[in-house]
Amino acid sequence: MSSIHQENDCLFCNIVQKKIPAQIVYEDETALAFEDISPQAPVHLLVIPKTHIPRLADMTTGDEKTLTQLFMIIHKLAGEKDLMDSGFRTVINSGEGAGQTVFHLHVHLMGGRPFHWPPG
Ligand code: AMP
Ligand code: ZN
Repeated sequence: MSSIHQENDCLFCNIVQKKIPAQIVYEDETALAFEDISPQAPVHLLVIPKTHIPRLADMTTGDEKTLTQLFMIIHKLAGEKDLMDSGFRTVINSGEGAGQTVFHLHVHLMGGRPFHWPPG
């Protein structure tokens, strides 16, 4: 297993280290899921790797397992939140141009309302 790298000045690294509180809904050795502080849907969770990867753009060979695991967790949480039939939206913003504001890789899991396409 790759070692977990943390950044002191990263908000989500601080949530991983429990230095900043969050409503955690899932945790294992390599990943964490918690409620978004500003929910854009009745269900709005963030699923993150514990290791500090700033953007999807920064992923490299060796990160395959991490990304797969995030989506397995999303699948599990979508089931627990009863979203399998109603539908759910997953979003990764990579870079400022895509609207990323927290530079620690995270997948948004949203559900519980209709979603439209294309997104803004
Ligand atoms: P993004 O714009 O894709 O980088 O998403 C960052 C998300 O983090 C936003 O949806 C914020 O509402 C959320 N967020 C910011 N600070 C916190 C926090 N302390 N706890 C939980 N979610 C947060
Ligand atoms: Zn971080």
